[in-house]
Amino acid sequence: MATIPAIPEIATLTASESGFVLPAATIAGAPVRTQDTRDGAQNATPIFNASTGATIGWQAHADASLVDAAVRAAHAALPAWRATTAAERGKLLKKIAELIDADRARLTAMQMQVSGKPPIEADIDVSDAAATFDYYAGLCLDAHAFAPEALALPDDTVTGERFYEAVGVAALIVPWNFPMVTTAWKIAPALAAGCTVVLKPSEFTSPVEHMLAEIINEAGLPDGVVNLVNGGGEVGALLTAHPLVDKISFTGSTASGKKVMQAAAQDMKRVTLELGGKSALIVRADADIERAVTLAVGGAFTNAGQMCSATARILVHDDVYRKFMAAFETAVRAIVVGPPQSANVAMGPLVCAAQRARVQALVEQGVQAGASVAFSGSLDHACADGFFMAPMVIAEPSVDNLLWTDEVFGPVACVKSFRTDEEAITLANDTRYGLVATVVSADREAARRYKTQLRAGLVWINTPQLIFPQICWGGLGLSGIGRELGLAGLRSYQELRHALADVG
Ligand code: NDP
Repeated sequence: MATIPAIPEIATLTASESGFVLPAATIAGAPVRTQDTRDGAQNATPIFNASTGATIGWQAHADASLVDAAVRAAHAALPAWRATTAAERGKLLKKIAELIDADRARLTAMQMQVSGKPPIEADIDVSDAAATFDYYAGLCLDAHAFAPEALALPDDTVTGERFYEAVGVAALIVPWNFPMVTTAWKIAPALAAGCTVVLKPSEFTSPVEHMLAEIINEAGLPDGVVNLVNGGGEVGALLTAHPLVDKISFTGSTASGKKVMQAAAQDMKRVTLELGGKSALIVRADADIERAVTLAVGGAFTNAGQMCSATARILVHDDVYRKFMAAFETAVRAIVVGPPQSANVAMGPLVCAAQRARVQALVEQGVQAGASVAFSGSLDHACADGFFMAPMVIAEPSVDNLLWTDEVFGPVACVKSFRTDEEAITLANDTRYGLVATVVSADREAARRYKTQLRAGLVWINTPQLIFPQICWGGLGLSGIGRELGLAGLRSYQELRHALADVG
């Protein structure tokens, strides 16, 4: 914590502005400054430009009283919001999707600043967020998703129906790697279901969520339906312990997810946990090697490898191993790493100095334990400041090396060879995570067998990491509990209820 220097406070951010202070919270549509509640004493953390390391602003932190006020605002707004029709909520969600799209330039620019994302990746995130609100706007018009359903019963003296009701107040806690996207995946279905929410963004990327919350409120939502509290893990913990929170949807590390689950147990709060991964990409002997390399680069180095879905364990059939490695090396060495403004940039920095230090320390530990770096990309003078790290490939680590077993969450991929499909599946499934997997093969039948045998929430066959709001997202084992997106994402903010009535 530090004391904020004397710089102006602003409510509406533009990417070029520097020296802003984010309010500690936005409650019932109004920003709450810390001096409003704390007599001028402001606790805050800096917000960095990830490509330069420069402090571009500050984020004031909420305290227990502000977290309580935000949850109470959501609780107070709940009865009226829950009583709106799905069609009314859908109209507002549609409006949010349109406003996000209209504000694309500003949202893209801010993401490029705080995350250092290349323009194309920042733009895709805006499109994904808008598409998610649009999808749930459409689902609000789907009678099957909301209308009560009659039950077929073996007793004709009673009728029965099944219906869904909003869970209540939802605490939404998100990480920094895809701030707009993970937030949209939670807020859109929560609002569609009739829940009110309190969002806690990551302290590294909160300006993006601040903008999104402004857009959401601009769409005309009643005060208190969407609230935001800023701060670190301690603010998240206050939210998860609050007795008026009915549902927690958390995306983050498995370690934090365990704490969230423990906190939720106290009041039997409903939980959805989207956690880490250590996923595999399998290149069969019949694979198109050019395509396999493209998918391997995308799966390991998109967002500088800071993806829960990173397919950073690459398994390559012996027969094509040398060919794959040669082409992979050419592709990795050609990755242009740099600030978002650089020409042809394909990979940005890591989000902050601590994250880069963490990744570098894991690489050092892995190498000390016997892993060897096969090749890596390079950094030029444009990467002198900021939190850059060159992409790196480890060849043939042992199966107990931490670079093979642990989530690195940075631009580090491991490659191992295999001889049979059974061996590839055994190696791919030898993890307590189970988020995603990719198979590259010209043999559709063989790929289909992988689909059923790989233990992962989502399997891509010969495609990049496509995610549509219509599918469901979530993992097995340590990768989490529950599903986001799709109808299941809506249901995760609803309680399933039944009523039986005497026909007489
Ligand atoms: P963390 O688990 O550290 O943090 C995630 C969020 O939870 C942040 O907002 C954080 O606050 C907050 N938080 C931390 N501790 C607690 C707590 N005890 N109670 C409540 N909230 C808490 O993860 P990172 O932000 O470092 O994100 C990286 C991790 O997230 C990776 O392991 C990655 O795999 C996973 N992830 C999973 C995804 C999925 O869909 N499965 C998608 C994206 C990421 P703050 O950071 O501000 O301190």
